Parts: sequence; structure tokens; C-alpha cells
Amino acid sequence: MPTEKNNADMNLNTQILIAAILGLAFGFLLTMYPDTAFVKHSLYGLGILSSVFIGLLKMLLVPLIFSSIVVGVSNLQAGGQLGPVWKITFLCCLTTTTLALILGISCAHLFEVGRGIDISIFQTSMQNYQAPDSLNPASFFTNFIQNTLINPFKAFSDGNVLAVVVFALFVGVALVQGGERFKSIRLLSHQFFEMMMLLVGWVMKLAPLGIFALLAKLMATEDISVLSRLAEFAVVVTGTTIFHGAVVLPLLLWIFGRMSPWTFFKGTRTALITAFATSSSSATMPLSMKCAQENLGVRPQTAGFVIPLGTQLNMDGTALYEAAAALFVANLVGLDLNLTQQIIVCLTAMIASLGAPGIPSAGMVTMIMVLQSVGLPAEAIAILLPIDRLLDTVRTVVNVQGDMMISVVVDRYTKDKDISA
Ligand code: ASP
Repeated sequence: MPTEKNNADMNLNTQILIAAILGLAFGFLLTMYPDTAFVKHSLYGLGILSSVFIGLLKMLLVPLIFSSIVVGVSNLQAGGQLGPVWKITFLCCLTTTTLALILGISCAHLFEVGRGIDISIFQTSMQNYQAPDSLNPASFFTNFIQNTLINPFKAFSDGNVLAVVVFALFVGVALVQGGERFKSIRLLSHQFFEMMMLLVGWVMKLAPLGIFALLAKLMATEDISVLSRLAEFAVVVTGTTIFHGAVVLPLLLWIFGRMSPWTFFKGTRTALITAFATSSSSATMPLSMKCAQENLGVRPQTAGFVIPLGTQLNMDGTALYEAAAALFVANLVGLDLNLTQQIIVCLTAMIASLGAPGIPSAGMVTMIMVLQSVGLPAEAIAILLPIDRLLDTVRTVVNVQGDMMISVVVDRYTKDKDISA
């Protein structure tokens, strides 16, 4: 029987869908009147609206990640489930990312992306590009450790999500180890987490407006014409990413999570559209968690552990993109990567997707590492940069989808083992 709450959710979902369509249409309208005062004022207004929406989501991000992991870990640990949940989460992340990488590489081969393109048309973008400092897996790991094991207060204030995740994992385990002694801190964490979720509910009410503004701005300010020059690559990468999100992940979900794709997509629409509009899995995380818990029926302790962790570490869309883009660049410069080099590309893309923060175009930065791993010129990302913001929309959706899907599978396999209930 439909409840009042379900109706309210349905309304919000419909509003978000309509807002997304209207946003794209309005953005397109703005492109037809370039350099007019109307466009200038509209962009200013849209900029403010989208900053408010993203700002509110970011405001909640660090306290929400911290409290949800502390609560998730302490509940799982108390129920004797941390071990299984951790292992299944890791296995799922590894499987889906590997499949994404294989798909990315295979499709790039199949369609021979980048072969025969006259590189001279990209000379201008190459000239404007400043080569970054060398980024190799060894220095990447050193940076990774140096940025992760740090003062938690600094991590909170800098919004360093990975460091917050690590600290929260320790606190969650310690809370359970301490037993009765830390009972009040456990209760406080629970209540704090519930309060954060209430705030997420408030921000969600703004989602239609925020999504309208974000998509209108994206449509009006991105140079779609560049897309046509790189059309083949863009279509192949986008098509493959969509295939991963629409076929591979739902199939795995159906087999291992026993959930129909329809139920999944219906329940996660809000988070997926927000991911598309914000191109940030971190900004979308509060909504992913809400959708997983309330619409997919994932237990709070599982969602509270898997989703924040997945947001940071599980990025199928990014991994797929980076592997395909490396092959694209290799073809552009006329280099045939042998099997070993392709495996190196895949492994580096996997590490790169682990380290990429869930923010717009983060994958572009870690892409440098992938290119350099097989001696491809890092400068080549200048070619990809102009279309990155557009491609980022779809890969972020798949990143977010993967996290919610894994939470369903993990929850199913660990439900029976719940000894705390
Ligand atoms: N924007 C992506 C995300 O937030 C990361 C990337 O650039 O690939 O998940």
C-alpha cells in the first residue's frame, strides 16, 4: 500500500527528472543567444543556485562519512560481521573494476579509437598545456600514505575524505573493543548520524533546483563542438560506460543481489541523476546512502560502511575511461601497446581509480599516471581535457551506481550472518 512518504519520494523523483530535462533545454536555449545580457545574468543566477546545492552537499559530506563509517563499523563489528562485509566488499570492487577495465580495453581495440586522426588539429591545445610533474605509481603510493595517515582534524578541515575514512575505521573498531566503557560515545555517534541523515533529507528537497541549474550551466558553457572532433572516442567511451552500467552491473546485481534492475534503477534515480549533474560521487554520496537504505532496503550498517568506502575506492566508470583513453592516446601517437603494456595500463588505471577523489575531472589528473606508466606523453591529456567535463557525467553515474549495487550484494550475503539482531 503506498504510504505518504513513498508518494513524497515519487514526487521528488519526478521533479528531479523534469528539472534535469528542463535544465538541459534551458542550457541549450542559452547557447542560441551568446554574449547577451540575458545569458550573462542567467549564468550568474545558475552559478549561484548550483553553488548553493553543491555547497550544502559538501557541507554534509565529511561529518556524514565520518559518522556513517563509525556507526557502520561498530554495528558490524558488534554483530561479528565486519570481516565478511569487508571481504565481500573488496571482492565485489575488484570484480566490477576488473570487468570495467577489460570492457574499456576491448572496446577501444574493437573500434580502434584514435587511429587515423590527424594529430595536428590538436596542436593548439597541446601548446596551451603545461606538463605536470612526473607522477608514477611509486611516488603515487608515497603521496597516498602521506596524505592518508594524518592529523584527523586537519583531514576534517581540508575535506580529505580518504584520511577521514581511515580514521573513522579505527574509531569504529575501537568503540566496539572498548565495549561498555564507550557506550555513550556509541550512542552519540548513532544520534549524530541520524541527525546528518535528516539534514540530507532537507538538502534533497533542493535537488530539483540544483540539478536544473547544474545541467543548464553545463550545457550552456561546455563547448559541444569540440565533441564532434573527438566524436568517435566520446561515443565509444560513453557507449561502453553505459553498457557497463546498463548491462554488466545490473546482471551482476540480478545474479548476486537477487534484485531486478527495474527495482534498482527506480530506487536510485535521484542519486544517479545527481551524479550526472554534479559529476561528483562525493557530492552525491549523501543521496546514494539515503537511496540504498530507504529504497533498496540495504541495512544502515551495511550502507554506512560500503557506500562511503566505495565512493572513495570503487570507480568503475573512471577505471574504464582511463584504460580506453590510454589506448586512444597510444593510437593517436601511433604506438602499438603490447599485452604486457596493456596489463600495466589496466593495473595502473585500477590504482588511479582508487586514488581519484570523487570530484569533477579527478580522473583526468590520475590519468597522467596511467599514460606515464607505459611511456605515453602526459601532454596528451590536453586533447582529452576539452571533452572531459562531458564524459565525466556518465562515468560518475556508473561510479555511484557501482557503490549502491555493491551495498545490495554485500547486504544480501551478510544478512544471515547477523548475530547482533
Ligand atoms: N568525477 C568522478 C567521480 O566523482 C571521478 C572522475 O573524474 O572520474 O566519481
